[in-house]
Amino acid sequence: MVMLDYRLNEEEQMIRDLARKISEEKIKPVREELDEKEEFPWDLMKAFAEADLCGLYIPEEYGGMGQKVLNFCLATEEISRVCGGVGVTFAASALGTAPILIFGTDEQKKKYLPDIASGKKLAAFGLTEANAGSDAGGIETTAVKDGDHYIVNGTKQWITNGGEAETYTLVAMTDKKKGSRGASAFIVEKGTPGFTFGKKEKKMGIRCSATRELVFQDCKIHKSQMLGREGMGFIVAMKTLDMTRPGIGAQAVGIAQGALDEALKYARERVQFGKPIVSFQAIQHMLADMATPLEAARALVYSTARLIDSGSKDYTLPASMAKLFASDTAMKVTTDAVQILAGYGYMREYPVEKMMRDAKITQIYEGTNQIQRNQIALNLIKLAAKKK
Ligand SMILES: Cc1cc2nc3c(=O)[nH]c(=O)nc-3n(C[C@H](O)[C@H](O)[C@H](O)COP(=O)(O)OP(=O)(O)OC[C@H]3O[C@@H](n4cnc5c(N)ncnc54)[C@H](O)[C@@H]3O)c2cc1C
Repeated sequence: MVMLDYRLNEEEQMIRDLARKISEEKIKPVREELDEKEEFPWDLMKAFAEADLCGLYIPEEYGGMGQKVLNFCLATEEISRVCGGVGVTFAASALGTAPILIFGTDEQKKKYLPDIASGKKLAAFGLTEANAGSDAGGIETTAVKDGDHYIVNGTKQWITNGGEAETYTLVAMTDKKKGSRGASAFIVEKGTPGFTFGKKEKKMGIRCSATRELVFQDCKIHKSQMLGREGMGFIVAMKTLDMTRPGIGAQAVGIAQGALDEALKYARERVQFGKPIVSFQAIQHMLADMATPLEAARALVYSTARLIDSGSKDYTLPASMAKLFASDTAMKVTTDAVQILAGYGYMREYPVEKMMRDAKITQIYEGTNQIQRNQIALNLIKLAAKKK
């Protein structure tokens, strides 16, 4: 249920409706089992591929449907409304692809994007390490130049789609002495000698998604696999996250909408003290306090996506705001949904406890919400200084 008219055009409506149909028909019947078994949703990824949903953010010349962040957000929202784990699996491929979209040469784009757009291959993005989460500058993976190659050593941790994806984008230190200008970004293919997969994580939520270590031991990567120039690794990472954070916002909006739908349905059916609980003002006010920020979050996510699609280069601030507000909203809305379903909400038989578990990660990955607040404040201060 969307409250506002976002003036979606025909194509946008078609994408939203298609993603909704697949989510209702194919994801809903299996989401509980996928979560329970922590099973990667390959069949669903194939269904998205058949429906042409994998190339929503990839330009037509490289086999996609046009580089549209809003279209991608609409699909991500609908998928996440039914299952946050499937939603992140879908979205993380875009995260892995964004560095190629933004910094790839025509040759790199021709080589990698068509298979991702068709859904034949998934992508993943490797930045985080055991000692470098929020402080990405602390990464220890190295890429040492050796003639026309770089020799990569190190371990990336908690990489979504790790092991399942074929195409990986990676940030490694090429010159530690240069600090923030000492990192570079690369594309690495699954199967490259010296590149293997380590520990597969067991998680609180989004349990059907794969979260795994990427292990590099003397892995030889040709210099043609570099994204941008040497020393641009952190710029690649930051520009990538600016572009993909509205996607986390869309995941959060979807999860929250799923929880609100369940809470409203249950409140109308559950009878206590001889009346449906929806007639109690306490429940009505909870529903109002869930729906209002949810709609505001959706408006922020869509507006930010439209800003990016308009060709603006300056969207760090709204991208962080969209991620921050939507994910905090999803955490609150899903927690309140469990409260409305109360004891039943706490049981795995009902979907809201899973939604609450799935919502939590949206406050953590692609920069914690503390880091988003830092980023927002920093940008506000910069803007104020410019105006003087
Ligand atoms: C399920 C899952 C999937 C993930 N997928 C990927 C992926 O695909 N690719 C990838 O590269 N990474 C991925 N990550 C990593 C994720 O982006 C990091 O977990 C996140 O950036 C935070 O890092 P950290 O967990 O090490 O927390 P830390 O950085 O150790 O932070 C710990 C706490 O300190 C706070 N904090 C840290 N620094 C500051 C500061 N300067 N100001 C205020 N507060 C601060 C944080 O907000 C947090 O509350 C994933 C993580 C998870 C859990």
